[in-house]
Amino acid sequence: MTAKPRSSISLERTIIPIHYNLKIVPCPVNFSFLGKVSIEICIAEPTYGIILNAKELNIQTATARDHLSTSGYSVTATSVSYNVEEETITLEFPTVLHVATSWILDITYIGLVNERLNGFYRSVYTDADNNIQYLLAWTIGDFDYIEAYSSGEFNGEPVQCRLYAPVGLAIHGRYSLDLAVKSVEYFARLFNIPYPLPKLDLVAVPDFAPGAMENWGLISFRTYAVLIEEFSSHDRKLEIAATVIHEISHQWFGNLVTMDWWSDLWLFEGFATHLAYIAVDELFPEWDIWSEFVKRIQEVLKHDSLRTSHPVEVGVENPSEITQIFDEVSYMKGASVLRMLSVWLGQEKFLQGIRKFMLKFMWGNANTDDLWQTLAEECQMDVPGFMQKWTRQTGYPMLSITELDESTILVRQNLFLSTGDVREEEDRLIWPIPLSLTTADEPAARNIMMDSKEMVLKVDTNKWYKFNMGQAGFYRVSYPSKSLDLLGKTFGAQRLGATVKARPGPLDSADRVGLLTDAAALVASGNAATSSFLTLLKYFEDEEDYMVWGEVSLRLQELLSVWLEQPAPVINALKEVQRRLFTKIVKRLGWDYAEGEDPSSGHLRALAIRFAGRAGDPDIVAEARRRFGAFMANKDMSAIPPDLRFPVFEIVLRTTVGTEEYEAVVSYYRETFIPGEKLVALTVLGYASSQELVRRTLAFAMSPEVRTQDILTAIATLRSSTMGRAELWDFMRLHWDVLYNRHCDDLRFLDYFVVLSIGSFSSLERYHEVQAFFSTKDTSLYERILATCLEGIRKNILWLERDRQEVENWLQVNGYLPKGLHLGPGGDMMVETSCGHLSHADRIAQQQHFYNVSSGVHQAHYVNTNGVAQSIHGSSTTNTANSSRSSSFSSSPAPSPRRVRSGSSPNGCHHHSPSPPSFEDEQVQLLLRQQQQQQEQQQKLEEQHHLHQHQYQQQQQQHRQLRQRGPQEQLMVQLQQQLWQEQRFKLHHLQMLERQEQHQQLREQEECQQKKINEQEQQALENGMELLHVNEHKL
Ligand SMILES: [Zn+2]
Repeated sequence: MTAKPRSSISLERTIIPIHYNLKIVPCPVNFSFLGKVSIEICIAEPTYGIILNAKELNIQTATARDHLSTSGYSVTATSVSYNVEEETITLEFPTVLHVATSWILDITYIGLVNERLNGFYRSVYTDADNNIQYLLAWTIGDFDYIEAYSSGEFNGEPVQCRLYAPVGLAIHGRYSLDLAVKSVEYFARLFNIPYPLPKLDLVAVPDFAPGAMENWGLISFRTYAVLIEEFSSHDRKLEIAATVIHEISHQWFGNLVTMDWWSDLWLFEGFATHLAYIAVDELFPEWDIWSEFVKRIQEVLKHDSLRTSHPVEVGVENPSEITQIFDEVSYMKGASVLRMLSVWLGQEKFLQGIRKFMLKFMWGNANTDDLWQTLAEECQMDVPGFMQKWTRQTGYPMLSITELDESTILVRQNLFLSTGDVREEEDRLIWPIPLSLTTADEPAARNIMMDSKEMVLKVDTNKWYKFNMGQAGFYRVSYPSKSLDLLGKTFGAQRLGATVKARPGPLDSADRVGLLTDAAALVASGNAATSSFLTLLKYFEDEEDYMVWGEVSLRLQELLSVWLEQPAPVINALKEVQRRLFTKIVKRLGWDYAEGEDPSSGHLRALAIRFAGRAGDPDIVAEARRRFGAFMANKDMSAIPPDLRFPVFEIVLRTTVGTEEYEAVVSYYRETFIPGEKLVALTVLGYASSQELVRRTLAFAMSPEVRTQDILTAIATLRSSTMGRAELWDFMRLHWDVLYNRHCDDLRFLDYFVVLSIGSFSSLERYHEVQAFFSTKDTSLYERILATCLEGIRKNILWLERDRQEVENWLQVNGYLPKGLHLGPGGDMMVETSCGHLSHADRIAQQQHFYNVSSGVHQAHYVNTNGVAQSIHGSSTTNTANSSRSSSFSSSPAPSPRRVRSGSSPNGCHHHSPSPPSFEDEQVQLLLRQQQQQQEQQQKLEEQHHLHQHQYQQQQQQHRQLRQRGPQEQLMVQLQQQLWQEQRFKLHHLQMLERQEQHQQLREQEECQQKKINEQEQQALENGMELLHVNEHKL
């Protein structure tokens, strides 16, 4: 059943197939399968026979019937002849098949699932009990293919590699096929084991839900994950390389050696991911893939810094648990800790151990401990001890550095939580941390293993020093501001011209990316002030590396996303920070691509145009609009080079006023056949931020014009505007039931939809809305992601409350925001008066209050502007409206409810003419009501926190008890676990037997039916013969 090119001798030219309806019932017991096919055919010339392609099929029955006639006229073939060489069969009919009739050809047949990886083939794997199981994979469709052979250098002989794609698209698979050929050779050398099969097919399948599936010898991909246009962006090429190579590595690590049980899935996925990076580094050294890796793990570092995270290794009782448990944490943290291990052991030693492991377990099963054991033997290091801490403990550490004197530092490890509120009892975990320290005087990293809470090291603190060289370690580092400044000055400012080569020390782009990402994360968690990150960014303005700029853009976006709903002057000032950084690059690189330009300059140009334009740089916006006009009006493709299509489309839609440009992009989406271009057009629609266009984007995303797999891409960008966020949230609430019913089979869809709809919120109001909405829903399918989102919103709220004022101050001091402006969080701007009411201290007090409430501690005192401690209760600064503008009430931060109770006795700042009393009373009443509500909400929040705390403490108690058990008891626990595991395997075995029995029954039934059909047919044939006989006699 291979897909043959159309030109082959499939059916006679006079017989044209119109539609195939194919049913295959595989029987795993004896590797046969039962096929039934109904082919709608159109006959151009009357005929008695039909020739068909078939290979190793045993035809049981073949009947041609007229499917439009009411009489049900049909004629059964009286003979079948096989031509093995040409792989055809000829059916002969007793009567002529007429041209005018609407024929359907029904054929039933039996085939064998062969082992030659050709047609309908099987591949072998063994289950937990070492029972050999057969994973069947086949694809049927109208495909084109392109073909190439590996060199055979490490495989014994060349391996045939093919890429199949829907007709007309295979040509876009050249890049992936090339990758496949290279990696088949690469992995054969890496593992020292030839590719175990004679061929490798990659198939691009439209609407295939997961990105890719590593079936042995027949890897299936979503079209987008394997097909690519010639001039695609660097990121696209990288994405495809990572996916294709990952799947090919599974042909060894995953298929040749298979996991014992689902609990080991993380190892096989994490390992394939890690291996793909090692391979890309080897195949494309110019890509600087490890910097990319550092960028890619930022998402998982973020997830794993929330209390809702989980360990990499999770016990799995049944496969249905997999989708919810195995997420980015299992895969990417898995890959990261494997990388950390490989750097700690030394990559060559590590790979040597892997080779041993493969040799030992190939054609069989292995588990996580088997791998650690083999590596430990090879390297003579405590691999299990090291890895178990990283894979079984949730979260990861942050190193804080304290400079004790000019030559000594104290390094301390603490659990890192992005909410910043680590409790003492949570902070007792210790990780073995490879410190990898470099200093200005020692360019080669010092390999120190830190396996205690604190450590003292000798370092010259007047010069720069950096931990986690190369960023292979899965942790963050918090430097004192003096040494962060030193690092920023040394590595941020020396990029341009001749100074690049004279750069001191070996700090490559991975380290610079690491500096930025650590600083950004520490700021968001409250371990450092946001201003320290903004200051660090300024040091990078002459940076030239695309990778580093990519990180700058991402981290800045994160900040802007949380600040999005802040008063316009603040958000504009932050955009100005972004504009100044990126416009400089656009000025340097220009808009046009030079002949023979370094590709990374091209990528940097696209990035800079996008972010300067996003920040509203007028020149860039104007140029983008001009090019867009030429592109759309004259269909002048050269007006926007491929790399710039996304930035230009985005800038135009962000600044569009009417609907014309939006409609032009929609038309482009409909007209273009190139998948990447289609996706660009679809993605940018969400940037249009008027209510009308936001609603149109939502409607369009749900329309049949957008394939299910692309819906989320279409709506993801709606989060870039306040309007988009609000509409998306309303949409989700309104249509949740329908969406849920339609997509509850696809948990990834559901998860991501939840993230898109609520993940960007940063206000208490939204937090409560989300809680209220889901409180009435059955959240069991997406419980984990919902909890993660809520924790993320809480993190955003805390960050904003903590640093809102601090950021404003920095923006003022650094000239991005005019001095003297005082901004309330409600959105309006107030001019600060001499009396300084709603003082900084008030604000801090309120933030403090919120912070304490949120983190479960309550504090009733704050420090006023004069540094005098005041009791919050009783002091009143509510009646502080300095003008008759009613908005000054709503724009001022809602004061702590305890302060409001004291009523209307203003003390001090009331010498401004007050508003008419009645009006003010009304305002005060309103405010009081609001505050009452807020207080209730806060109380609820507090109660929840107490509850969480209680649950957490109980959990901790259990953990402690477990840890405190003596060796005897631990052994008992282990034995129990073993027993339980055995039982589980027995159960699994029983289930398998049951399934086999079912198959057997099914097969028997089929055979029985078949027998009946055969008998009937035989009978009919005999009758026919008899009739013929009788007729002959008559004649
Ligand atoms: Zn995988």
